[in-house]
Formats: sequence, structure tokens, C-alpha cells
Amino acid sequence: MKAAIFVGPEQPLAIEDVTPNPPGPRDVVVRVAASGVCHSDLSIVHGYVPLPPPCVLGHEGAGTVESVGADVRKVQPGDRVIASFVPACGQCWYCMHEKTNLCENMFAASMTPRVTLADGRIASCMTGLGTFAEAMTIDETSVVKVDTDLPDEQLALIGCGVTTGVGAALNTARVEPGSSVAVIGCGGVGNAVIQGARIAGAARIFAVDPVEMKRKTAEQLGATDLVDPADGDPIAQVQALTGGRGTDYAFEVIGLPETIVQAYNTARRGGTVVVVGMPRMDAQVTLPGWQLFSDEKRLLGCVYGSAQVQRDFPRFIGLVETGRLDLGTMVSRRIALDEVNDAFRAMEAGEVIRSVIV
Ligand SMILES: [Zn+2]
Ligand SMILES: [Zn+2]
Repeated sequence: MKAAIFVGPEQPLAIEDVTPNPPGPRDVVVRVAASGVCHSDLSIVHGYVPLPPPCVLGHEGAGTVESVGADVRKVQPGDRVIASFVPACGQCWYCMHEKTNLCENMFAASMTPRVTLADGRIASCMTGLGTFAEAMTIDETSVVKVDTDLPDEQLALIGCGVTTGVGAALNTARVEPGSSVAVIGCGGVGNAVIQGARIAGAARIFAVDPVEMKRKTAEQLGATDLVDPADGDPIAQVQALTGGRGTDYAFEVIGLPETIVQAYNTARRGGTVVVVGMPRMDAQVTLPGWQLFSDEKRLLGCVYGSAQVQRDFPRFIGLVETGRLDLGTMVSRRIALDEVNDAFRAMEAGEVIRSVIV
């Protein structure tokens, strides 16, 4: 089968024919129907997150179960599933404490060798998935069965971007009705945060992004105020519209130290700051000590939207089916697997919200 392989930092993904390794008794073979191209894939290509090559990239996907190992009970062939990029083992300390997004088995899943390349080398798969392929062999704990008629391309987005963004608003921050929200960075995940804030009933949603297309999309998806950093300091722009106080919630959805500090300074005193973007592993963030103390802001990390995938994937599907969550607008381009490198270029050029491999 064809797969897109990470072969080393700053090199284009290699589209190669690979042979899946034999599945184990707890494995599920999924025919990939759609896979979103996410910024985290690009971060690996850039070497921001060290991942040993060769590795099949892609961690946002949906498809249909083709076969299951002898011990698999959760799904059967023919089931529609969304892959979860953090397994939910159900047995580790975090899973037992309703924090499956922090499941201790994540590292083991991402290290499992899954395919053999033509030259005989063995490759693992990003986060234990590897959705940039025609099929993937994944652990039972990484699949969520879904019962819906929604298109594959929309289900794929639930696998990462939508769950991360909507979950950041609903689960991590628990945005309250009538509140004010700033979202810094309006790509796929940022626009999902905006939708989550709208669903939660936020009164004002500030979309901060230098790219006009992204601000326009944000407006379509629920932002009430569009902030272009080219028009002046975005913190001052937001403060001017919030009585000088800043917003009740500020989400950083880029992963840069300077925009994390910006989000911190955009939230009002006593407000909530959520770091949704994935920084480089060696990034350091410097915050003013006095304000950390005296302004009493809540500074929250956010992994996978604090989602419990078995609960939240069906929950988000329900919101899509009833017209409250718009995923169609977030699919900018449908592409083939061998166009994935161009999708990275389009992402960096700010041309797309999401490209989806179908
Ligand atoms: Zn992602
Ligand atoms: Zn676990």
C-alpha cells in the first residue's frame, strides 16, 4: 500500500509502497477514508518535535474497519471509526481519573513498528496511527466507533483539529455563556476554538490572525470581532473593545512563545489563558512574575482539547448533525496522498484552513 513517509528533517515526505507488518491480537486494521493535514505533521517535518525516521506521518483520520485481531472486542469489520491520536487504554492512572487525553500508553503506541519499507527498513507511525496511508494497523485503544452518515472528510477532522479546538473551549476552559473570548491564530484548530466558544454561548469572540482568509472564515464560524495585527498591537485592539480589561478567556493556537505571552496579556485580570498551540520542544516562555501573582489569571495547558474521546467524538458528531458545529467550511481542499507535500506548502502560505487527503 502507499504511504507518506517522514525520512528526515526538512525533507519532503516520500510517497512509497510499504508492506504492513502482521497485526497483533489487539490490533485493528482500518482502511483510511480521509486524513486531514495538520500543523503538527509539519512541525515534525521541520524537526520541532524530534521523531525518529522513517515514520508514517498523519494523525487525523477516519475510515472503516477492515479486520480485527482475535482479542479485539470494541469494533468489528465494517464499523466506521475515527482514530484517536492519544490511545485511551482505560487502565492507566490518567485513564482511571477521566484524563484519557494524558494516557500513559501514548509513547508506547507511537513507537510500535507497523510497516516495512521496500528497502527492508521498519517504520513506526506518528502517534501510533499514520493516517497518511491507504490503511493503518492501530491498537484497539486508538479507535472510536462512530454511528453517523457524515462524510469521511468531516469525521477525519474530529480526529485532531476539531476535538482539540472545540474541546479547548468546552472542556479545558469551560467557556461560560455571555463571556468574551480571544483566539490568537485562526487556522483549523483556532477556528474550532471559535466554534466551541460560540456553542458555549460566548457573547464576543475576537479572532486574531494576520491572514485575511482566516479572519473571514472565523467570522463565518462565529467570531464577532476581527483583529488584524497589521492594524496595531492586537492586545490594545482587544482591550479597547473590552472596557480596557481584556477578555475573560484567551486561547493561543499557534505554539509560539511570543503569542503565548500575547494571550496571557490579552486575558483580563482573573481571566483564563489556554495554551492550545504546540510549541517546539525546546521553546521557553517568559512571563512577568508580579502579574502571575497579582493578576490571578488561570494559565492552562491543553492536550487534545482535554477530550475523553469515547465520550467526545460522538458528542461533537451530534453537534455537527444538528447544525451547531460547521465542519464543511473548514475543509478547504480535497487532495490525493501524493499531494501532501504541496498541502504543507499551502498551509505555510496561509492558503487553507484544512487540506484533507481523500
Ligand atoms: Zn493535529
Ligand atoms: Zn491510559
